[in-house]
Amino acid sequence: MNGDTSLSHQGDPTPGDAIRPLIVPRDEHPISRANISSQALKVLYRLKEAGYQAFLVGGAVRDLLLGLSPKDFDIATNAHPDQVKQLFRNCRLIGRRFHLAHIRFGFEIIEVATFRAAHTPIDEDNSVDEGAHRVLDARGRILRDNLYGSIEEDVWRRDFTANALYYNIEDFSVWDYVGGVADARARVLRLIGDPQTRYREDPVRMLRAMRFAAKLDFQIEAHTAEPIAKLAGMLDGVPPARLFDEINKLFLVGSAARSFELLEQYHLLEHLFPDLAAALAHFGKESSAAKVLQLGLQGTDERVREDKSVTPMFLFAVLLWPVIRRLYERTTPAQGMEIDALVTACEQATARQQARIAVPKRFTLPMREMIALQPRFERREGRRVLRVLDHPRFRAAYDFLLLRAAAGEVPQELADWWTQIQGTSGEARLEMVEQTNTSAGASAPGRPRRRRRRRRTSQS
Ligand code: ATP
Ligand code: MG
Repeated sequence: MNGDTSLSHQGDPTPGDAIRPLIVPRDEHPISRANISSQALKVLYRLKEAGYQAFLVGGAVRDLLLGLSPKDFDIATNAHPDQVKQLFRNCRLIGRRFHLAHIRFGFEIIEVATFRAAHTPIDEDNSVDEGAHRVLDARGRILRDNLYGSIEEDVWRRDFTANALYYNIEDFSVWDYVGGVADARARVLRLIGDPQTRYREDPVRMLRAMRFAAKLDFQIEAHTAEPIAKLAGMLDGVPPARLFDEINKLFLVGSAARSFELLEQYHLLEHLFPDLAAALAHFGKESSAAKVLQLGLQGTDERVREDKSVTPMFLFAVLLWPVIRRLYERTTPAQGMEIDALVTACEQATARQQARIAVPKRFTLPMREMIALQPRFERREGRRVLRVLDHPRFRAAYDFLLLRAAAGEVPQELADWWTQIQGTSGEARLEMVEQTNTSAGASAPGRPRRRRRRRRTSQS
């Protein structure tokens, strides 16, 4: 298949090197314009009509080749950003120091990138540093701009062979410089170039490897897999905000459970979630803490499959729950102070995690409220129950309670009671609360003043 010579570009091709792609004609691949967004087609055609090269690139080509529906459509062209801007009224150039064109159609944004020159370093947002690549004259005018290049140069900056395919709008063929078509068909994830070098350039590629392997059900090719364990520590130097984005892509696209397994297998988990790795080692795989996590990730995947919304708020609650429990279990809260102790554990777990992954407050604050509701579920008597039902975080907290029940951390009967009370209203609801008051004592460890048993959120 793809002779390995085309893959080893340690020396990197210099501009002008004659590299010829494998060109797969339209009748030899399944990519149909019917499956390409009409807005992306519009952009491709307009670029072509203006005399530029225009290709669909990246994940969209890969996904279409695999028969999946792409999440977004990215375009690469030899038109410079300013030239792209001139062609589209709805175009904005973005990036701090460099330019990518965003062409907006309502909610859909089509990203158009100009082919990059060889050796163009990639910023953390996958953009390039324009300043470092311009040669200016004494008056600050651009003399030479070696930022942008040809498709032959652009291909080498991409990460995996399956992500480096170009669909040509000129004749609907696919251009493949790196054996990506064969790899995609064989479901092999292979880094372009020397794997160590590529991970060192950008350690996030290790996480991208996990993501694509999980999402696409690809095997990570041996040379691509080999350096990961050794270089895992390089993730410690990645800005926490970028890791937050990557974690969402890993866990909120329908393959969270598999991604988690891969992170464990490749020893990346310790670097992303050190306290979680330690808590799981402490509680053990069969513990209810581990089960809440596992069921939580599976549930997230199910929601994605059913097209339901998923949020980092719930995701991080699931990921941090074993840590929160461990911190909580180390405390001995005074009677009546259990909720405060749990909230403190939650705050500590979150604060420590922030050093690695920057979770914005708009997610951590509701997460804390949701966690704080957990002990309140165990008190079923009196009118305060009605306040729990009205709490803005009730729905999420109830879902979390269901998880804990499924994991064996709280009695299923408790979760069922909360399911049932939601189905009742008015008098019947009040009756339930009052009945609980007199009859459901044993499984409702409420009433702290009369009971001596210490309440814990869990026992594993
Ligand atoms: P997804 O379906 O998740 O969007 P994708 O392959 O399109 O997957 P993007 O992050 O959207 O991934 O990036 C688009 C393309 O840009 C990739 O296919 C790849 O060619 C290139 N790319 C993105 N990030 C990197 C990186 N860190 N290193 C090298 N190439 C990258
Ligand atoms: Mg993409």
